[in-house]
Amino acid sequence: MTVDIKSRTRDVDVVGRLHSIESFGTVDGPGTRLVVFCQGCPMRCQYCHNPDTWEFARADGTGPGTSMTVGEVLERYERNRPFYKSGGITVTGGEPMAQPDFVAALFRAAHEAPAGRIHTCLDTSAAMFSAEHAERFSALLDATDMVLLDIKTSDPALHETLCGMPASHALELGDELARRGIPTLIRHVVVPGLTDSEEECAAVGRIIGNWDNVVGLDFLPYHTMGKVKYDKLDIKYPLKGVKAMDAARAKELRTIALRARAQRRAERGR
Ligand code: SF4
Repeated sequence: MTVDIKSRTRDVDVVGRLHSIESFGTVDGPGTRLVVFCQGCPMRCQYCHNPDTWEFARADGTGPGTSMTVGEVLERYERNRPFYKSGGITVTGGEPMAQPDFVAALFRAAHEAPAGRIHTCLDTSAAMFSAEHAERFSALLDATDMVLLDIKTSDPALHETLCGMPASHALELGDELARRGIPTLIRHVVVPGLTDSEEECAAVGRIIGNWDNVVGLDFLPYHTMGKVKYDKLDIKYPLKGVKAMDAARAKELRTIALRARAQRRAERGR
């Protein structure tokens, strides 16, 4: 008992660097959720809507974002607890896995909340993860009920161009989540001329056909609404001139991906 109390005390005092908090999110995990946006992301996705979350705070605590403790985040949740009945807390970014100790402490404390266990969801691009250093994220994944995992593209070369980082991180995290059996929803942004070929979408389907823990697949049509933030921050918008993705076509491509997934599962005897 003494150990539990001590560890809870430590968890609520752990500090994270946050961009913002949304009180009633409905698109980042099941139900209505408190959505916590972390500050800092090492990727540079060309279609990113949140370039204002990219920059990491400096070691001396200056720079973008606001420091908050786990306890302060949970207070925000408790203020509106009745509204989160079938929801919980989602941590997104930026990149939440860049602050694994903070998110692990938040999720542990959420599970142990005196007023009742809170469902925890991690929304990640996996940029920080590698199989070689999986133990760095072990405590975080131990306390994670669900993951929203981005598969940006199946094509390793395109991945580097599109996001500025290798594809291997997401694939290795996908393997780890499958090994652990953590329910995972895959997200894939469909960008005209980049990630909208039938071959690409089938390849995404084959990748996720290797993971038996996948509980859903979202194909998100690229839209241009993020451009205004780039203008505001005076950053060049990399997808200038690319039109928004047709939502109906994105739906068809998702069906192709699901078919390829089913084929892959059948090959594996699932
Ligand atoms: S991983 Fe997410 S936050 Fe980071 S650049 Fe890509 S879309 Fe933006």
